[in-house]
Amino acid sequence: MEKIKVGVLGCTGAVGQKLVSLLGRHPFFEISELVASEKSAGMKYAERTSWREASPMPGYVRDIVIKSPCEELDARILFSGLDASVAGEIESDYAGRGYAVVSNSRNHRMDEFVPLVIPEVNGSHIAMVRDQETYKKSGGFIVTNPNCSTIVLALALYPIYRDFGVDKAMVTTMQAISGGGYPGVPSMDILGNVVPHISGEEQKMETELLKIFGSYDGNHVSNADITVSASCNRVPVRDGHTMSVSFSTCREATSEDLIKSLCSYEDLELNLSPDQVVAYMDDPARPQPLLDSATGGGMTVTVGNLRKCPVLGWKFNAFGHNTVRGAAGAAILNAELLVKEGFV
Ligand code: NAP
Repeated sequence: MEKIKVGVLGCTGAVGQKLVSLLGRHPFFEISELVASEKSAGMKYAERTSWREASPMPGYVRDIVIKSPCEELDARILFSGLDASVAGEIESDYAGRGYAVVSNSRNHRMDEFVPLVIPEVNGSHIAMVRDQETYKKSGGFIVTNPNCSTIVLALALYPIYRDFGVDKAMVTTMQAISGGGYPGVPSMDILGNVVPHISGEEQKMETELLKIFGSYDGNHVSNADITVSASCNRVPVRDGHTMSVSFSTCREATSEDLIKSLCSYEDLELNLSPDQVVAYMDDPARPQPLLDSATGGGMTVTVGNLRKCPVLGWKFNAFGHNTVRGAAGAAILNAELLVKEGFV
């Protein structure tokens, strides 16, 4: 198959670099354009970027000259890792001009006809792009992936929600520094410390999950009937969000039932989809960021220590890589689904 030309908006940031790293070795996407702010525009990618990925920068992107937002781009899909303060307007502009915008930013996630998609959970919602005005006029549209902690919670809870119903969930997160972008929280503020506040994060976890688990009738998404309470903390971990989750099921289940359900994702045959979407570890001291962040190339969510909760019935620990499963990998998976479903 001929490679599809793609661009990365916000190419110099934490998510942008992860996108460049993963797309640089993708079998059918090829980076043709890179975009960042005016202060980066005009410079070669390798000169401008403070590369923080463990693998080397893909050779063919080093000399690509960074463009400024809203310039004409030679690409069909634009992956957005733009700062949320500017993403809304820039993404809308590109969608209006016929590009397929696949975004990590929060700005359009809750818009009526914008799919908020995790292919393994609610892939059918992708068809909502047909109802976007820009799609009707120019073929352009916006698709979003969830916030980096919401997606971990959603993947860990979804099979149980599907099989037994879940009406309440309480989650306490321990989120990595890279979740705040590069360079992120100053080292003086995070080393040896826990910061019990991440702006806007709790509200995102409490609302996005309802749309993701919602039912889509071909016209609208009706929110799922589940109440989520989230408490979010920044901790001195480089990559990966860990969370303690308590939940109540609508129907009786044993721990064997729940573990079997957790691991029952079907294979969607998308390139970046891992063999195990959720891996259950029969070890009370797992998951841990140092041990579990590379599982499934960062695309697997790890769950462990399922046990009884005296308040809500059940609890477990969950973990996912925030810039891979929580951002760049999630966006690329959405783009693969768009290709598979013929929207690109
Ligand atoms: P970041 O490291 O701060 O990167 C922000 C990017 O936006 C940089 O490339 C920056 O380019 C660009 N930018 C800033 N102002 C701009 C402007 N006026 N015009 C064009 N480009 C501009 O942030 P990040 O962590 O990668 O996050 C990017 C987005 O993804 C955010 O919306 C964030 O909420 C979301 N997200 C992040 C994570 C994560 O784990 N980090 C996970 C999920 C979602 P310059 O270098 O030129 O300034």
